[in-house]
Amino acid sequence: MTLLAETTAAATAFHRGRRLRRTPALRALVRETRLHPSMLVAPLFVRPGQGVREEIGSMPGQHRLSVDELAREVDRLLESGVRSVLLFGLPESKDPDGSGAWADGGIVQAAIRELRRSAGDDLAIIADVCLCEYTTHGHCGIVRDGSVDNDATLPLLARAAASLADAGAEIVAPSAMMDGQVAAIREALPETPILAYAAKHASAFYGPFREAADSAPAFGDRRSYQVDPANGREALREIAADLDEGADMIMVKPALPALDIVAAAAAATTVPIAAYQVSGEYAAICAAADRGWLDRGAAALESLTAMSRAGADVLVTYFALEAAGRLREIDR
Ligand SMILES: [Zn+2]
Repeated sequence: MTLLAETTAAATAFHRGRRLRRTPALRALVRETRLHPSMLVAPLFVRPGQGVREEIGSMPGQHRLSVDELAREVDRLLESGVRSVLLFGLPESKDPDGSGAWADGGIVQAAIRELRRSAGDDLAIIADVCLCEYTTHGHCGIVRDGSVDNDATLPLLARAAASLADAGAEIVAPSAMMDGQVAAIREALPETPILAYAAKHASAFYGPFREAADSAPAFGDRRSYQVDPANGREALREIAADLDEGADMIMVKPALPALDIVAAAAAATTVPIAAYQVSGEYAAICAAADRGWLDRGAAALESLTAMSRAGADVLVTYFALEAAGRLREIDR
């Protein structure tokens, strides 16, 4: 055997993955997952007042915004290429039934009307549909005899969804995890797209959100209606049920701790899939970056890329604005 033949044999004896990783151009050419700002959805918190921009302690860089400030934030998002927002409300007052959720002059309804006026069709408004931000006890449904009454909650969620759609929300997103909530909303709103928070685990990563939306339960927790994080097949069962009831899109939440559910949902369904990088996932990256332990922007983009790679079409993230800016830089 000649020396050349020996070298060739050795060279082909193993996989040489580095051949396509040599330069930035080669790596860009063979990149499998590409993010675009239009895939991103920015969750925003709206509160009463004028000119209010109140930072959320456990979510640095995120604010509770009055309607006028919200409109300014949406302008910034649109300029960066982010075209969708998910709205949560902090009402002036709360009651046991959460009637602020369907009040015609409610805080989110007012915000939607203003954004419709200021941003028009450039913006897709997704309205979260739940009662926990509006109830005095902080649960996602009404409470009877110390526990959440599923069926008595359904008409209230349908009423809230109808009110939000009436104000101009393009998409309603029921997040209460009440059984039958999608069917109840579908019946009330045959024409409005429903993004169902179908696979919502009872996650420890929601902590900072409860401060942001002032929605911590006053007693107990949400484990009797949200899915046990240990269960994957049950999460898929929830997704199937919501699609049967008429959901147009489904959401998996939280994102990185549930990428297996995202991938399984992408394989099992044909509807758009959203993954929600929740408050605790955001806060963890922020806190580590603050201490110099992580590169904030790179960690944000890598986590969003992982969500997309797993099969999510829509990425709900508190990093939306900064990720969009970074994506435009990479593009250049
Ligand atoms: Zn809720």
